[in-house]
Amino acid sequence: MPTATSKATVSAKSHVASSGPSPAVMGTYARQDVVFERGEGSWLISTTGEKYLDFASGVAVNVLGHAHPHLVQALTAQAAMLWHTSNLYRVANQETLAERLCAATFADKVFFCNSGAEACEGAIKTARRYHHVCGHPERNRIITFKGAFHGRTLATIAAAGNEKYMEGFGPDMPGFDCLPFGDHDALTKAIGPATAAIMVEPIQGEGGIRTIPNQCLVGLRELCDKHGLLLILDEVQCGVGRTGRLFAHEWAGIKPDLMAIAKGIGGGFPVGAFLGTTEATKGMVPGTHGSTFGGNPLATAVGNAVLDVVLEPGFLDAVQRKALYLKQALARVHDENPGLVEEVRGAGLLMGVRINAKVPAGDVVKACTAEKFLAVGAGDNVVRIIPPLNVSEAELAEAANRLGRALKSVAKVA
Ligand SMILES: *Cc1c(COP(=O)(O)O)cnc(C)c1O
Repeated sequence: MPTATSKATVSAKSHVASSGPSPAVMGTYARQDVVFERGEGSWLISTTGEKYLDFASGVAVNVLGHAHPHLVQALTAQAAMLWHTSNLYRVANQETLAERLCAATFADKVFFCNSGAEACEGAIKTARRYHHVCGHPERNRIITFKGAFHGRTLATIAAAGNEKYMEGFGPDMPGFDCLPFGDHDALTKAIGPATAAIMVEPIQGEGGIRTIPNQCLVGLRELCDKHGLLLILDEVQCGVGRTGRLFAHEWAGIKPDLMAIAKGIGGGFPVGAFLGTTEATKGMVPGTHGSTFGGNPLATAVGNAVLDVVLEPGFLDAVQRKALYLKQALARVHDENPGLVEEVRGAGLLMGVRINAKVPAGDVVKACTAEKFLAVGAGDNVVRIIPPLNVSEAELAEAANRLGRALKSVAKVA
């Protein structure tokens, strides 16, 4: 028996029955007051039995929706066999997933971790280490862009340079030059003898679905080649089929040197990774980097199962068709709500609806929830629309209806 304690025992189920979020969970999120009990495809069912159309997808994580039979099968079969061994030993599923990611991308090497922030940090470390082993340890600064999001660790908040996320967490991690988005002159001026790499999201997710035009990605590639810099792409949100290609940068016809991925690759199981060429990763020799959980048998079983579906012939073509359908549906919502919807933007099934500055996007997100439609707020007063990649056209049409009703209800109050 445990020794006496002044705190009452709390059973596993007791809290959810009461109303409001538990004060025992650190209050770092402004959560909506709904608890979900189960999911089926594009739908979530709350503990009160209500059905929500889920176009938040756990922030671009549930690429195959909820309870996809192939993922459930892969997870449960692996769970019955072996969960974790650590990276002291070879991990068969990890080797398979790495081989498949390399075969499908620019990369020759993959390091597995558990989240997007870790993947970004790993890519940053790898870029610095590259110049170190090339005999240029002074080349350790990374150029990044305003509005970026690379995670919440000390390095990744400094990389993105968002004051809101850095306040009170100083001293700020040095080594980042965060430049205005889309300012070519500022970029060429910022490159100096200490620059190691440029790190960028092909489509800024948290920043409000701001897309880097293909010709600018090509330009970044050329600048990196000219100055001997590594190009690091953060495809944590826009990767794994989200834009209708396996990775967003493929549309521009370029290859990065390093790339961070996470979110979609685990379909809801925490998996992150950074990928690189043999050259860019040549400093990452035994002992230089590690992760206890990274790429464990359970995580990589699910990662492989996600790739089974996403790489199936025709799957990404279907995403492109659905993307066109969604774009047209959102264009109609835009037309029907002039003055409230300023712009519809994005690519594939990663879309943003920019709301007029007089109405906070968060109000629209709440109105969507009231219509049993889940969307996600983003920077620049944008509502993100991020359905699962296996969504149906009927669900896309229904989403546009619900978003339209939510906008009407907000317009009435505004
Ligand atoms: C979500 C996100 C991250 C951070 O991922 P975590 O798993 O929350 O650490 C990094 N970069 C981008 C582009 C993201 O969208």
